[in-house]
Amino acid sequence: MAPMKLLNPGPVTLSERVRQALLREDLCHREPEFAELQQRIRAALLAVYDLDPAEWAAILLTGSGTAAVEAMLSSLVPTNGRLTVVANGAYGERMARIAETYGIDTARATHAWTEAIDVSRLDAHATQIAVVQHETTTGRLNDLAAVAAATRDARLLLDAVSSFGAEAIDFEGCRIDALAGTANKCLHGVPGTSFVIARRGVLERAAARTVYLNLVTYLAAQDAGSTPFTQSVQTFYALDAALAELAGGGGWQRRRERYRRLMHRVRGGLVALGIKPLLPDGESSCVLSAFRLPKGLDYAALHDHLKRAGYVIYAGQGEFAQSIFRIAVMGALDDADIERLLRAIRSIV
Ligand SMILES: *Cc1c(COP(=O)(O)O)cnc(C)c1O
Repeated sequence: MAPMKLLNPGPVTLSERVRQALLREDLCHREPEFAELQQRIRAALLAVYDLDPAEWAAILLTGSGTAAVEAMLSSLVPTNGRLTVVANGAYGERMARIAETYGIDTARATHAWTEAIDVSRLDAHATQIAVVQHETTTGRLNDLAAVAAATRDARLLLDAVSSFGAEAIDFEGCRIDALAGTANKCLHGVPGTSFVIARRGVLERAAARTVYLNLVTYLAAQDAGSTPFTQSVQTFYALDAALAELAGGGGWQRRRERYRRLMHRVRGGLVALGIKPLLPDGESSCVLSAFRLPKGLDYAALHDHLKRAGYVIYAGQGEFAQSIFRIAVMGALDDADIERLLRAIRSIV
């Protein structure tokens, strides 16, 4: 049987090159070869969006995407900072919960999960605004420019976990101070490594609210070619290979084009079957779309049918658990995979 294709929003179907990288030689995280690997990945992450290494730093963590989000929020809202968290999905709500758990002065700009961001709900006095770029709950690509325009001085802390490597990010125009990302979504690595990219000046004003996720500790060690704690060496190998593959394939712009082409086929094919997208094309990311389950077909039946055909799709979260399904086009997928997927869906609706 053909290998399973993952259409969930990470982990992704690996390319052969990334899978093979997991088998590179055993390596101690205190050896110079590891320091070299870590610096190469940090530089490659900045290079994805052409960020100047004199001004920006990439900080590598061992942990899933949420570890990077938590490190960013706990470290980069200063002690006297006032944070607004924009929530129009599960990941925005998670950021609010993280900030509140650390006792950060937090206002929630709450929205229904299908809503676009209403900038009138943002606190005009916030010093930092935490926002999700691609709200994976619904597939919505949030309008960061509108958030930045509506708040004169606030700095953005971005959850770019499901967009880094595939969507445009306007670091200067949107006053972005930092973002959190992960290896195993649009970058096509394996789960286990996540990262924060931050302005070096902002790291100088960081707060220390946690020992393990303190970005200042990581930055000092990583700038010195070291690491405060054991890193997940093999997932670094995979990320190293995945970043080389991204650069060699034409960078985030080409990846976005490819995702768009595949997603256009998915959306078109499903609409032709009478299956409606949750959000219009123009409001959706290139990475993932959510669809309303057709009448009379429950999620488990669709999921199991497609799994037998070689595809793993993803359920809705929370209030959407019974009403939608999600399809992401990250990872080693091609047009033929999408055609086969559509044939398999056609045979059950
Ligand atoms: C996947 C994801 C995360 C992190 O989830 P983990 O399971 O911790 O990797 C955070 N934010 C968004 C928007 C995501 O899609």
